[in-house]
Amino acid sequence: MIGGLRREIEFLVFWLCFLLIIGAVFEEILLFLLIGLLAYIGWTLYNLKLLTEWLTKPSKNLPEVSGIWGDVYYHLYHLYKRNRKAKKKLTSMLARFQKSTQALPYATIVLNEYDEIEWFNPAAQQMFNFHAKRDIGQRIDNLIRQPKFTSYLSKRKFEKPLEFQHDFQKVQLSITPYASGQYLLSARDVTQARRLEEMRRDFISNASHELRTPITVMSGYIEVLRETETDETQMPLQKIQQQTQRMEDIISELIGLAKLESSPEIEEPIVVDSDQLLNDVFQEAAALDKGVHKLIISIEPVEIMGKYDELRMAFSNLLTNAIRYTPQDKSIELYTRTDEAGVSVCVKDQGIGINYEHIPRLTERFYRVDEGRSRESGGTGLGLSIVKQVLDRHGASLRIESEPGRGSTFCCYFPYMQLAESSNVVTKM
Ligand code: ADP
Repeated sequence: MIGGLRREIEFLVFWLCFLLIIGAVFEEILLFLLIGLLAYIGWTLYNLKLLTEWLTKPSKNLPEVSGIWGDVYYHLYHLYKRNRKAKKKLTSMLARFQKSTQALPYATIVLNEYDEIEWFNPAAQQMFNFHAKRDIGQRIDNLIRQPKFTSYLSKRKFEKPLEFQHDFQKVQLSITPYASGQYLLSARDVTQARRLEEMRRDFISNASHELRTPITVMSGYIEVLRETETDETQMPLQKIQQQTQRMEDIISELIGLAKLESSPEIEEPIVVDSDQLLNDVFQEAAALDKGVHKLIISIEPVEIMGKYDELRMAFSNLLTNAIRYTPQDKSIELYTRTDEAGVSVCVKDQGIGINYEHIPRLTERFYRVDEGRSRESGGTGLGLSIVKQVLDRHGASLRIESEPGRGSTFCCYFPYMQLAESSNVVTKM
């Protein structure tokens, strides 16, 4: 641009000198200067007109100009080429994005801050029976008329996905805010998965119920037989009785677990009297322990919301485990802690401890670190899965710290936003 400007000034100086000389020759300097400058302004205006025309329809064909105008065209043309390249890139990216979202098996919908539909993919069209012409710009809660969905949308708490019945399908839907005021809604059909889960649950529950009656009958007969046992039959009868008792325990825990799984969500939790709950659990554990361990309770009233019976079952399982896996005379403590984000109910023991590699798997059904020891001490392998299930239902999590040979601490952590979050097992060593 600087070169062009210099050339333009040189031309102007040359042009003025020329006008001065001609003016001097004809003794009309002012007149010639005026005519010359008017010609220069006219030429500049003509170039401006050419530029405006070119700008309205930029192309490769640049007008034949020189001086500063040549430079202006040169730079504008490069800017235009760069823009065209960027636009092409953006268009192809957009096309690729559209192709991939069209191929997505999940229904994907873009909503604006007023919950109006801005865009959706073919899967959404099929799932919710949308029509682009009719439904773009419509509020989504006018099209998906489901009280659960409407309330989920209005509460603006999208941390947890929502499941609801839509026509004949069970839909799992999640909403993610992005950009300013935009929301990405994605939904999938989970009908089949839920049906399978239900079948599995029903099977376990039915099988457990079916087994319960014969086992009860068997233990009844065994008790009768034990009354008339002889030296020879005493040992086998005792073993049979132990095993039937074990089966009864497993069956009743399986039934309890199935019940928890099929219970409806706790939608309106109530504040639990933590003092009474923890004292009850502690007394029960003390009765079971019969003075074998040093049991300590150190609790303050804490705010926990949910179901008394379920929480009692969870805390009780943790204390029973501590009793089972702690050697005689060692201490077991039930305590509470509060921080700014939530409350914890913890059971700490000086027991055998657990190696770190087992910790993430402890809440799996029938997972035991030492199968023989668990059986011997009357364990079913289901206690911690029940704890996890209960905590999940209360938006709480189980935190486990343990060191082999030194003891374990199991903490149930209830964030103040209980029931809004799902549970996770957090492990620490
Ligand atoms: P179980 O009925 O076998 O105790 P759980 O589900 O309650 O089943 O526990 C799973 C496993 O976790 C147990 O088999 C045991 O190996 C381990 N465990 C649980 N609690 C403790 C504890 N307080 N100390 C050491 N190990 C424990």
